[in-house]
Amino acid sequence: MKVQMLPTTISENGRATAQQHLCCLVVDDKVAIDAGSLAMSATEIQRKQVRDVILTHAHLDHIAGLPIFIDDLFATLETPIRIYALPEVINSLETHVFNWVLYPRVSELKNSYGNVVTYQSIEVESKIKVSHLEFTAINVNHKVPSVGFVFSDGNTKMALSGDTSQMERFWEFVNQEKNLKALFIECAFPNELSDLAEASHHLTPSKLELELKKFSQPDCQIFVINLKPMYREKICSEITTLNIPNLNVLEVGKVYHF
Ligand SMILES: [Zn+2]
Repeated sequence: MKVQMLPTTISENGRATAQQHLCCLVVDDKVAIDAGSLAMSATEIQRKQVRDVILTHAHLDHIAGLPIFIDDLFATLETPIRIYALPEVINSLETHVFNWVLYPRVSELKNSYGNVVTYQSIEVESKIKVSHLEFTAINVNHKVPSVGFVFSDGNTKMALSGDTSQMERFWEFVNQEKNLKALFIECAFPNELSDLAEASHHLTPSKLELELKKFSQPDCQIFVINLKPMYREKICSEITTLNIPNLNVLEVGKVYHF
């Protein structure tokens, strides 16, 4: 499986930076997990191939690129963009984003081929087919209805936490899944902002360390994602001091093969 966290942020030289303001993890150039920077940073191949978008939750940094991506492709879509999300997340998108005020209600619009968007509700802990992949959503612990995922192409299996604070059920579920190749887990704030992390339901390196004690797959590679760009260096250095084997910060923009 091929995985890439799309770049989000441009330096004064016009190059993508390591900072990650928005979240969009593309699998096999075909499936987007969240759509933060999907419209802005998808490669030409991804732009042509991504028609399935599965969402962890409705926060803006995870969906910002979705309306623009649909808009960009509108006239050319021969099949609709399929959006998979919790019913609460679909409701948030329809109420707060695609409401004819912030953006047109694209689910009511058609191009010459038909619908441009369809929604599919996710049921927690049920398997769902998304393109060539199989996903299972698991409840996590964020400020709004949110899920993490276990996903597989039939050969390689991975897990992703999405935005979250302390979790129990996620670990129970993930630990039952054998031979996970990679785990992607958030760490939004440095240790000094522990109170803010607690209030906003995010992790710090110290909290991450406690979480990873609940994870029982020592051979799985662990990648930290969703670091608040402002605190990236601090968080990276605190993660290094944890000295946990197989734990690395995911490089934004880099294509990983598993
Ligand atoms: Zn969030």
